[in-house]
Amino acid sequence: MIDAIKELNGFHKHDYQNGHANGHSNGTAAHTHTADKAESKAEIETAVRTILTNVGEDPDREGLVGTPDRIARMYDEILAGYTTDPVKLVNGALFDVDYDDPVIVKEIEYFSMCEHHMLPFFGRAHIAYIPSDKVIGLSKIPRIVEMFARRLQVQERMTRQIAEMIDEVLQPQGVAVVVEGSHMCSMMRGVKKEHPRMMTSYMIGKYKEDKDLRREFMDQLRK
Ligand SMILES: [Zn+2]
Repeated sequence: MIDAIKELNGFHKHDYQNGHANGHSNGTAAHTHTADKAESKAEIETAVRTILTNVGEDPDREGLVGTPDRIARMYDEILAGYTTDPVKLVNGALFDVDYDDPVIVKEIEYFSMCEHHMLPFFGRAHIAYIPSDKVIGLSKIPRIVEMFARRLQVQERMTRQIAEMIDEVLQPQGVAVVVEGSHMCSMMRGVKKEHPRMMTSYMIGKYKEDKDLRREFMDQLRK
């Protein structure tokens, strides 16, 4: 199951091999070791300087001189989902239960980055599952959302990944994930001053099959 979760999450093999000697075996730049991390940071800084210069700025003026460093450090935080270990994340937080009504966790705030423009999108995620025999610690669900949000994403894929991970970990009778998102790339561009939120959903198992269950979840979200 553990391998399945890793694969499901697009968890980079070279990240997982942290501490093993074969971090470079896949031929891509591995960011596993401290030295590599420093190297990655330096390269991001160089790239940001290049952008600054090419948009007509002076990267050496006072206000900008620290910007490449700040952005590189910021990416480390807002894109931390690439290096989060999903197995560790859920470790020890699964509990056996004799309960098969829906568990609903709503209004989970998230901040992500759209992969098309590298601009933020953000909003709330709402999650329901119907346990088979296990539940997951309440604090873990927002952490699962965060792991997928802190990557370059499209909202549709993030929604599906959250649902599939919960399905994989809990093997529940059904999972429903609804995500609302406001996208800076559409809000900042163009002349339209209306900013519709985008809604995405992904249903598995009973939530996919049973219209009434789905409606019950949607009704809960309106309260
Ligand atoms: Zn975008």
